[in-house]
Amino acid sequence: MQLIDGKAVSAAVKQQIKDTIEKEGLEVGLAVIIVGNNQASRVYVNNKKKACEVCGIKSFEYALPEDTKEEELLELIDTLNKDDKVNGILCQLPLPGHLDEEKVIKAISPIKDVDAFSAVNVGKIMIGNYAFLPCTPAGVMELIHSTGTDVAGKECVVIGRSNIVGKPMAMLLLHENATVTICHSKTKNLAEVCRRADILVSAVGRADFVTADMVKDGAVVIDVGMNRNAENKLCGDVKFDEVAPKCSYITPVPGGVGPMTIAMLMKNTLMAKRIQSGNYEA
Ligand code: NAP
Repeated sequence: MQLIDGKAVSAAVKQQIKDTIEKEGLEVGLAVIIVGNNQASRVYVNNKKKACEVCGIKSFEYALPEDTKEEELLELIDTLNKDDKVNGILCQLPLPGHLDEEKVIKAISPIKDVDAFSAVNVGKIMIGNYAFLPCTPAGVMELIHSTGTDVAGKECVVIGRSNIVGKPMAMLLLHENATVTICHSKTKNLAEVCRRADILVSAVGRADFVTADMVKDGAVVIDVGMNRNAENKLCGDVKFDEVAPKCSYITPVPGGVGPMTIAMLMKNTLMAKRIQSGNYEA
């Protein structure tokens, strides 16, 4: 079994972005909006800001109070849409309950939607003609590529069908000619389906969910889950100690998919700059 080192792969991606920005003398900016006091969101936003620094991307943070009105948030997005110094806009989710996430995502110009959450960008991902990568699934693909595994023709099982992870994950695997099965809470005989997988991606959000009996010998196992265990320690979906010995490759949590998601966000922000400079057709 070999561990897939998400930190190392993401560092290489960020270095490449930094080199490109320096070599081409680009000025690239990312606006990050955070509403309210969600502690996990604060950690994510700080990590995104740090990644911007590493890559030479200017970050603009907008920390808004919990009781921000929807019109105020939409006004800010409108201003950022028109600001040439801002190439990418992301609004950290989840938003406080009184704000309509769909409406907020829709307000971000598709050419600045570096999370690729808008219907326009999701549609482009679906047809395989996209500029912005879905960050977490694209990070997973990079990790799979780093193992030298050829995805074409492989049996791939994705557990989870969310719009931000499971569905786009399945699409990216399909675009690389895998045979893909998507599982969810109504899937029957889940363990049996998962055991078919040469590549198993878990995006459920439950600690110790993937057990050894669900994994084929020699499988590549990618753990997208980010959960807290009984000791409040960060962990994934996979029962690592019993699953790892069966795998050819496996991602740890932390240090697997998490750092890749942010690296892909940086890649999208550079792509946004190219699109807005007319160097790439969106
Ligand atoms: P989500 O929207 O809650 O989706 C979870 C999916 O798991 C749903 O499709 C659900 O099925 C499925 N599921 C739940 N219980 C199941 C069961 N017993 N059997 C089979 N499927 C089951 O979550 P998400 O946003 O996709 O995130 C998933 C996990 O990834 C979370 O831990 C999240 O924190 C993590 N995450 C990590 C990163 C990263 O950068 N590392 C990024 C994004 C998310 P139904 O659709 O039938 O309900």
